[in-house]
Amino acid sequence: MKNSKHNDAAGRVIVVGAGASGMMAAGRAAEMGAEVLLLEKTERPGKKILISGKSRCNLTNSKPLEHFILMYGANGSFLRQAFHRYFREDLLVFFRDYGVETKTERGGRIFPVSDDAGDVVDALMRYISEQGVKLKHSISVTGIMTTEGRVTGVRSDREIFPASSVIIATGGATWPGTGSSGDGYHMAEALGHRVTGLRPALVPLVADNEDLAKSMQGASLRNVRLTAFQCPAEDIDVSLTPGADTGRGFSTRPPPPVIESRLGEMMMTHFGIGGPISLLMSLSVVDALERGPVSVSIDLKPALSREQLRLRVQRDFDRFSKRSYRRILAGLLPGKLIDPFVFMTKISPDKPAHQITAAERERLLDLLKSLRFNILRPLPMTTAIVTAGGVSLKEVDPRTMGSRLLSGLYFCGEVLDIDADTGGYNLQAAFSTGYMAGEQASGKNIIKLERKVKS
Ligand SMILES: Cc1cc2nc3c(=O)[nH]c(=O)nc-3n(C[C@H](O)[C@H](O)[C@H](O)COP(=O)(O)OP(=O)(O)OC[C@H]3O[C@@H](n4cnc5c(N)ncnc54)[C@H](O)[C@@H]3O)c2cc1C
Repeated sequence: MKNSKHNDAAGRVIVVGAGASGMMAAGRAAEMGAEVLLLEKTERPGKKILISGKSRCNLTNSKPLEHFILMYGANGSFLRQAFHRYFREDLLVFFRDYGVETKTERGGRIFPVSDDAGDVVDALMRYISEQGVKLKHSISVTGIMTTEGRVTGVRSDREIFPASSVIIATGGATWPGTGSSGDGYHMAEALGHRVTGLRPALVPLVADNEDLAKSMQGASLRNVRLTAFQCPAEDIDVSLTPGADTGRGFSTRPPPPVIESRLGEMMMTHFGIGGPISLLMSLSVVDALERGPVSVSIDLKPALSREQLRLRVQRDFDRFSKRSYRRILAGLLPGKLIDPFVFMTKISPDKPAHQITAAERERLLDLLKSLRFNILRPLPMTTAIVTAGGVSLKEVDPRTMGSRLLSGLYFCGEVLDIDADTGGYNLQAAFSTGYMAGEQASGKNIIKLERKVKS
């Protein structure tokens, strides 16, 4: 293995990984005056940014800071200092300066006006180039070199690169085709850092009754309440379904055995459930699966109590007494749920409404208020949007992103034990921690943490 030409490591910062956090860290370290080398495993930087937000890149969110922090669950407070240093307004000014105007959409989600994630990557590329960052792609870092408690450089599949500071910005372990395949976790562990349980978050969930799920495949369910319970489906006590959202990201704690409950949109898939509220609840479900059986209940008519729904259904039966059961269902359900409901309620699809018995009507109400599935597992990590778990925050200084174990070592982005809901929070965390790590690793710093966040 040959040594890099630049053998003088003094003051040099190496950033491992040219994703969102790594490019921000490299640019900022160089802006502070450091010599910066950015090493990227794949042939091009920012591959995950390019697929983010369905290639539109939801880069941050307009929610106030206190709400923002809740989106990261129990570990959110670790980000306070990074957000005090560099938050949404700084990020938006940064992108505006590089020609990326932004717009705010439903739920406070902020996107480039162009709806093109490529513009975000281009802006970051121009930033690092203007600051004089040296970028080397197609180089896979394999380990961090240390002497006497401080880093001295990195080993790669090709060369050794000396450095006085190293920032690990290798991302998580999802969508490995983007280059983020979990390498940073191994590097951190090899240096004595603890990596907390890695698991998929924002991931579709597999149901035990795949045939039933498959029969509903493609059904888009809007304005439904999805509630996850820590018990088998047959033991669900539907009276415990909360009337308001509760769980991760909300200030209220769900009453056991409820794990989490959300109102919104979801999808039936050929293996189970997916779509917005299902993805948001998936980490709570994944964690609960470690403790025991988990099931979900879908209230397809959450705006109506059972009594109100009974009146509404009976009114339809009375008004359209000659209509077939199938046609009545068409007025109550998305098309893709009609056949499965016929099957599950065991009522003939041709039966005229006036012949439907009270017992049959109650069977229909049971399903409309609580369509249930046992959840077996999440889809694999590689398909998740984000990795939960990561480098333990106990061993990273939140004021600097520096390792508490090794001098000259820094972390930023998804490699840390940080993950959040959808909505732009994961990228904001990557940019904010990257900015802070770059600034601190430059060695030129000045901790300036007193600046107030513009929220
Ligand atoms: C489909 C999808 C959509 C998403 N949409 C959004 C969204 O709209 N909004 C949002 O906030 N978040 C979104 N996310 C999450 C967000 O993209 C990530 O959390 C964020 O990109 C993490 O940034 P990072 O810098 O930590 O890691 P990454 O962006 O993953 O970058 C890590 C980089 O390190 C490189 N690398 C890894 N190992 C090595 C090595 N050994 N040597 C050298 N280089 C290495 C990788 O090739 C990669 O370029 C989405 C994720 C996915 C998968």
